[in-house]
Amino acid sequence: MHMTEEQFDIIKAQLKKLVAIPDGFYAKKFAGIDIDAIKDQSDFEKLPFTDKGDLREAYPLGIAAVPPEQIVRIHSSSGTTGTPVIIPYTKKDVEDWAIQFARCYEYAGVTKEDRVHITPGYGLWTAGIGFQLGCELLGAMAIPMGPGNTDKQLKMMMDLESTVLCATSSYALRLAEEIAKRGIGDQIKLRKGIIGSERWGEKMRRRIANELGVELYDIYGLTEVYGPGIGINCQADSAVHIWSDYVYLEIIDPVTGEPVSDGEPGEIVLTTLQKEGAPLIRFRTHDLSRIVPGDCACGHNEHPRIDIITGRTDDMVKVHGVNMFPAQIEEVIAAVDGASSEYQMMIDHLNGKDIATLFVEVEPSANKYNMEETIATEFKNRIGFTPQVKPVDIEDLPRSEKKTTRIFDNRY
Ligand code: ZN
Repeated sequence: MHMTEEQFDIIKAQLKKLVAIPDGFYAKKFAGIDIDAIKDQSDFEKLPFTDKGDLREAYPLGIAAVPPEQIVRIHSSSGTTGTPVIIPYTKKDVEDWAIQFARCYEYAGVTKEDRVHITPGYGLWTAGIGFQLGCELLGAMAIPMGPGNTDKQLKMMMDLESTVLCATSSYALRLAEEIAKRGIGDQIKLRKGIIGSERWGEKMRRRIANELGVELYDIYGLTEVYGPGIGINCQADSAVHIWSDYVYLEIIDPVTGEPVSDGEPGEIVLTTLQKEGAPLIRFRTHDLSRIVPGDCACGHNEHPRIDIITGRTDDMVKVHGVNMFPAQIEEVIAAVDGASSEYQMMIDHLNGKDIATLFVEVEPSANKYNMEETIATEFKNRIGFTPQVKPVDIEDLPRSEKKTTRIFDNRY
């Protein structure tokens, strides 16, 4: 990704400031690196990456680049195990996040007239409160539901005539299914869905859009870099614009760490341009995507675009010697008529052999025996080995309000 002169100047000034903080995170990390010798983008690309492990080691507030009295809030990212990561925010960071989030709503065509039903959680996690701040800054009506209690969600959605649903893709699907089951679709006024924090396949997207009758938008972000709201797709296209005035975007080869050409898939690496509390230099997100080259029909070419996230570098599993990403399984399922969007894969190791079992929800009209064979063949053709396929009924697999785990590796 081409770095603009303005971005370079901001980054360079920021680097000089960060390494000058006595005993600071980057003073230690970049010890021995001559910041003055960084003259261009390629010099910048030689700087070491920052990883979540570095932030974990800095627990609780070692990442802070300002004195504690300037910190007005902290958020924490959900480590599945062990020490969490704490991200401190200054007043400006909180305001900047709201500005970016309001811009996301604007790109999605949300206006002051809208009533925004917010189901992501509130708390240490950055989700709910970001949706709320951006909504209030825009001037729309925020309905801060948080997750859970589907009965209450649907009641409020009908009574308050919510027009925008903010949710993870799996919770949006669950609400859509519940609305269909209760036959209350005519009382739902939703017109847009803003879906974040989870990777989702095309089939799931179509189901949610059709069942809720909404236009869908993908919002991107992560707790370490403000939270959701650093980018969203516009009304012209499905690619996600990333706010170039707040973050500098790189796509790298996750194995070699080298930048890839625009358009090539790789890992998203972000450098913050305005953050005060916890500025991050070359932060590895472990999210996989690619730059979408060329101009967007919306005209906002100052904000580069990435594809919908196709996976996480750490979601990659190796079965029978084949590297596999969840997005590939989604493609298999999407190609089979009668297969629904939901699946789970269990990987076990028995008698010296890997055994992969793929559970797939199928339409009630589908012949399960035929589905077993069709999906297995499609899988073999596209991914390179044959799993045991177990077709199940719609809603047999769990829906979660947070992130849904779809691949369970029981081998280690
Ligand atoms: Zn656009």
